[in-house]
Amino acid sequence: MVIKSIELAGYRNYDFLNMQFDRGTNILYGDNAQGKTNILEAIFMAATTKSHRGSKDREIVNFDREEAHIRTFLEKEGVETRVDMHLRKSKSKGIAIDGQKIKKAADLLGLCNVVFFSPEDLGIIKNGPVERRRFVDMELCQLDSFYLYNLNHYNKIVNQRNKLLKDMYMNPSLKETLGIWDMQLVSFGSKIIERRKLFAEQLNDIIYDIHRKLSGDRENLVIHYEPDVEIEDFEQKLRQSQEKDIRSKMTSTGPHRDDFSFMIENVDIRRYGSQGQQRTAALSLKLSEIELVKKITKDNPILLLDDVLSELDSNRQNYLLNSIGDIQTIITCTGLEEFVNHRFEINRVYRVSEGT
Ligand code: ATP
Ligand code: MG
Repeated sequence: MVIKSIELAGYRNYDFLNMQFDRGTNILYGDNAQGKTNILEAIFMAATTKSHRGSKDREIVNFDREEAHIRTFLEKEGVETRVDMHLRKSKSKGIAIDGQKIKKAADLLGLCNVVFFSPEDLGIIKNGPVERRRFVDMELCQLDSFYLYNLNHYNKIVNQRNKLLKDMYMNPSLKETLGIWDMQLVSFGSKIIERRKLFAEQLNDIIYDIHRKLSGDRENLVIHYEPDVEIEDFEQKLRQSQEKDIRSKMTSTGPHRDDFSFMIENVDIRRYGSQGQQRTAALSLKLSEIELVKKITKDNPILLLDDVLSELDSNRQNYLLNSIGDIQTIITCTGLEEFVNHRFEINRVYRVSEGT
């Protein structure tokens, strides 16, 4: 899939924008706070219905407007698709594909896959489990609509169960209803655990070779899924931690506490890796994500690189740029100097300045 063009109206600092993309490499450069990331965010939003930075629709709509519009034209094998998205400050968003309104946001997923790569991703290994789960969820939600469905339900149930635990303090008889929530927690949670387990396996099939090359044939990287609880123990562990949960008014068990570890020769590099090792592993992870999307969807994702080149040394820059191949890529940066030392084809360059 490639994105041919995007139109924005009332989106963040864009009053109106109409921009055409090349199917190769596109560069958006400009000073800070001019609107480069906003364009990548809009593309990500048009593909996934969500902001990569987790912003709410009302934060995205221009300060002085009530609504924002995104229109993208996509193309796959000569067939063009138009996606319209309508964001409002006070209501949920409206989406149409080729003029046909869709009922659920999830119906958009799968049409266009994007891989977003920002400097924060380089900290994915050394940061906390929240970021690692976010990475996994962001990818799986795009690739698997059942996962999205299960995750949405699971999160809702965790919230409702937590609310119940709080209310129980004033109304102890509510304890009898806890079992109903636990059953649902296990039912949706187990599906999440299963899919994450498979995801780790799928990534391991790819990341090993990529990381060996990136590390100059020196390191063997393996990802381990660390579920907070195994499916078969889930029910029992929930029951065992019931009193603790009531005291802390929080659900302490389940995939919302999962993590993933990254091992090089049995050393956990989350804790013991050097900075360079952690960043190289993070780069391997993002490159594996691209390969996995290709493998599963049998299509190229659109690659969005937000200011990430300046964060890499020239070897890793080279590796990243060389592995792009024929994937449509949109790169943001503050200056063009970064590209001077690379033999790398650039097809289109835009300067972004104050929302134009
Ligand atoms: P950097 O190089 O620092 O990453 P950038 O070009 O990527 O900068 P963006 O993050 O795309 O910058 O845009 C930031 C600009 O958008 C800021 O000036 C910010 O005030 C503005 N902005 C963000 N949200 C809104 C909004 N809802 N309405 C209007 N302007 C907004
Ligand atoms: Mg930016």
